[in-house]
Amino acid sequence: MIIVLKPGTDPKEAQAILEQIERLGLKPLFMPGTERVVLGALGDERVIASLHLESHPHVESVTPILAPYKLVSRELHPHDTVVPLGDHTVFGGERFIVIAGPCAVESREQMDQGARAVKEAGASALRGGAFKPRTSPYAFQGLGEEGLEILAQAGRAHGLPVVTDVGDVAAVERHADALQVGARNMQNYRLLQALGHCRKAVILKRGMAATLNELLLAAEYIVGEGNPNVILCERGIKTYEPATRNTLDLSAVPYIKQKSHLPVLVDPSHGTGRRDLVEPMACAAAACGADGIMVEVHPDPALALSDGEQSLYPDQFRALMRRLKPFV
Ligand code: PEP
Ligand code: MN
Repeated sequence: MIIVLKPGTDPKEAQAILEQIERLGLKPLFMPGTERVVLGALGDERVIASLHLESHPHVESVTPILAPYKLVSRELHPHDTVVPLGDHTVFGGERFIVIAGPCAVESREQMDQGARAVKEAGASALRGGAFKPRTSPYAFQGLGEEGLEILAQAGRAHGLPVVTDVGDVAAVERHADALQVGARNMQNYRLLQALGHCRKAVILKRGMAATLNELLLAAEYIVGEGNPNVILCERGIKTYEPATRNTLDLSAVPYIKQKSHLPVLVDPSHGTGRRDLVEPMACAAAACGADGIMVEVHPDPALALSDGEQSLYPDQFRALMRRLKPFV
């Protein structure tokens, strides 16, 4: 529920309403504006209705938030959220952000070469998984904490913030600038709540069979615990089409932009699974209003320990960056 107070309402009155909301076990929100103070009450709609705030003498209007998600909805928060990525980069601002790098951290040399290549081509952040969520337990699982150190070192050496999958929240939080929740973890609600307690950016990838409502409700778990720095990522969903690894649902981008204030990232690498389709889908992502893309690039994709077939060669990444010039 969004509660707009009358102009000039004494802050003590606002406080009293917030306390009333809290006493009922609802979540109170305080959103002071330049002209009006806006309050929020989140929780069971029937309990909120029992407050009869519409007839309160200092209340101008009471409007229900119709979406099932509240904190991440545009109804509550009309302006775009801008998420810091490290100390010098923001995601969701004016610039289209390109996060690039190998699927997995494999060695110091591979990350150094990968970071140099993507930095020289104009990437804004470096990716690399150290705790890899692999379908097969026999596939390369990542280098773990050693991988995080290698990634962080490559990021520092080349002046790039780093993004990595949350295998171990505490370790990843120490080393990375953005914590990536992989598609398989989108509905791991205890993990999402734990990420709500850190302040770093969280890249929440859409589950492979998740609806957009489910994605937005998953984001609500993180924001609800106090971390507003969430980036939503469309990475393709499972459909009946076998020609591509996943079906990249680009209509998700303008849909989410309408419904939510959170910034949107597109991953055309996992979205297609084929390096020849990455460039056109990356351009399509920019054209449909995404705030950035995350692309897998490997110094030598033929030798990659994971996702080599969808990883760009460094010269292909340079060509992609040239095509994205009007956006970056
Ligand atoms: C990845 O980014 O390498 C990855 C494993 O992604 P997803 O969770 O989308 O499959
Ligand atoms: Mn990958």
